[in-house]
Amino acid sequence: PGTDFRLLNTADREFENHVRPQAMDEFLGQPAIADNLRIFIQAAKMRGEALDHILFHGPPGLGKTTLSRIVAREMGVKIRETSGPVIEKPADLAGLLTSLEAGDILFIDEIHRLSNVVEEYLYSAMEDYRIDILIDSGPHARSIQLSLQPFTLIGATTRSGLLTAPLLSRFGMRFRLSYYTSDVLQQIIIRSAKLLQVPITPEAAMELARRSRGTPRIANALLRRMRDFAQVIGNGCIDEAIVRKGLEALQVDEYGLDEMDNRILTTIIDKFKGGPVGINTIATAVGEEPGTIEEVYEPFLIQEGFIHRTPRGREATDKAYRHLGRKRMDNGNS
Ligand code: ATP
Repeated sequence: PGTDFRLLNTADREFENHVRPQAMDEFLGQPAIADNLRIFIQAAKMRGEALDHILFHGPPGLGKTTLSRIVAREMGVKIRETSGPVIEKPADLAGLLTSLEAGDILFIDEIHRLSNVVEEYLYSAMEDYRIDILIDSGPHARSIQLSLQPFTLIGATTRSGLLTAPLLSRFGMRFRLSYYTSDVLQQIIIRSAKLLQVPITPEAAMELARRSRGTPRIANALLRRMRDFAQVIGNGCIDEAIVRKGLEALQVDEYGLDEMDNRILTTIIDKFKGGPVGINTIATAVGEEPGTIEEVYEPFLIQEGFIHRTPRGREATDKAYRHLGRKRMDNGNS
């Protein structure tokens, strides 16, 4: 419980747009992805072709939208943004696709939520830049073929496990975004603070970075909150003392784990004696889909050494016990 600073409000969203890197050189972290994209972009430009279709997958807030916009900018093309659930009918998709000019980008966020029908129409569009539309129904039904300008589809998803093989195979490039290191997050925070025109010490930026769950979106949201604390209880500068007080007031824990992270850990420890326990059982206990736990929450907990996967299920580590202030019950007492 406590203030959930992760529920972004309108001001947070505006701030996100304000500090969003606009060019590849401003985009920090994810070096392998950035290097590859630079080369593919340059090659496509040299050949005067549309860029291959790209899939970005990984947990929320790591920069999928940001990268997609940067790609459009560097290619010098327009980007049309939509999301899986918004494209309800094949006609919606056809409308979007036919509005694209040569080389333009169609960005589909949450692409795992496309309906099966719409997805099937996407196949020929991606492969041959054409789309067959069924007109009329019953005995008068006929299909007409629309040819499209060469375009680039960029799909983004937190749940790549839900994508079908035929869709996956049509992306020439697939990139998995990973959590950011504290060093990189520190730089991101310092950069955002400059844009926000709020002074911050490097130590304070580092402390915020460590508590941002490896995620730029969280780092930026925390920074905004700290600016308020600095103005109200400090002298306007975000220093370590402000960060300590501010994070305590927001109940951000030492590792920046969120409520669901902590629920997963307490479930494994308190209900299942530390595991091993199967992912489906954990999911039922915390009221979340097993796939979401596997793709959105668990990767960070595993990376940071709070749980590990064994053939028999997930186990809480000593670090998780320490973090939650629990003792192992090996001797029957807690
Ligand atoms: P979602 O899929 O949940 O919308 P996302 O992965 O698309 O998340 P973005 O919207 O691209 O995330 O990024 C969230 C915020 O984090 C933005 O404000 C963006 O400015 C910032 N951000 C992301 N990646 C970076 C980066 N590499 N350097 C600096 N800022 C970044």
